[in-house]
Amino acid sequence: MVLVILAGSAAAYWLVRRQLRPLEQLAASVKALEADNMAQIKVPLPNTRDESYQLALALDDMITRVGQAYAGQKEFAASAAHELRTPLAAMQSRLEVFLMKERTPDEYQQLLQRFDGNLKRLNTLVEQLLQLSSSHVPDTKCGICLGDIVEDAVCELAPVLEQKTVDINLEDHLLVDENPALYRQLVLNLLQNAAKYGGARIRVHLAQQENQVTLRVEDNGPGIPDTAKEHIFEPFYRVDRSRSRRIGGNGLGLSIVRRIARQYGGDATVGDSPLGGACLVIHLPLSKSG
Ligand code: ADP
Repeated sequence: MVLVILAGSAAAYWLVRRQLRPLEQLAASVKALEADNMAQIKVPLPNTRDESYQLALALDDMITRVGQAYAGQKEFAASAAHELRTPLAAMQSRLEVFLMKERTPDEYQQLLQRFDGNLKRLNTLVEQLLQLSSSHVPDTKCGICLGDIVEDAVCELAPVLEQKTVDINLEDHLLVDENPALYRQLVLNLLQNAAKYGGARIRVHLAQQENQVTLRVEDNGPGIPDTAKEHIFEPFYRVDRSRSRRIGGNGLGLSIVRRIARQYGGDATVGDSPLGGACLVIHLPLSKSG
């Protein structure tokens, strides 16, 4: 009897150990995780197709995603530091040269004007970085008329759009929920880009497609090369870096556009316009209030 009990206990112990082994391996891999090695660590998948297999699979997927997000954040921080450093370094070296000899009041005036341009650029960059990193979701409003926001944005940019022909085709009473200030920012970014990079014609089209509102901003500029299309929503990406920098671009405008659209259940995509240039398309969910 004692022997049977002992043999039974040993068999039960062996079985439980066997069942727990994959979980122990899982725990060991999780313990070995560091922020920098997440992309390399592979969680060992048990041979059995049971719950521990499902758990290992889910954990592996989660570690991969956290690793990618961490790598993305690091890259973002490095690019942001680089973008901030460039105008600061330019200002510092200019100041060093300036202070090497006596200067006239006119020269001081010129220096301050140059600094003013650099400071404005830095200010815009910091504001855009804050917008991108903010996790604060502002108050929601129901039933905002997107057409009104587009018309207001076109009015606001009148000085920039002065030399352009802007065709506006807005389907009436297309209502969206959420935040007017962010949607305004989204429309402004698209119109500013069409003005900066496009030609003399801009077309803005707002229509309903199934249960979504679709906003298209097109232009007759050079367009966006196919190889660049998948990158233009990435922070700090610019097709022509030096040209974009010259005309005051930080490479963050479209990242902000996509972030706002996705934050509210929509998306931003890019294509070619029949006008010959780029066609930026935003989808946003229609208002639930009807
Ligand atoms: P930026 O602040 O440099 O304008 P964006 O994120 O708004 O940055 O745009 C990213 C890049 O996409 C721009 O630098 C430009 O090269 C390209 N781009 C954006 N809009 C257009 C457009 N309408 N036509 C051609 N290129 C565009």
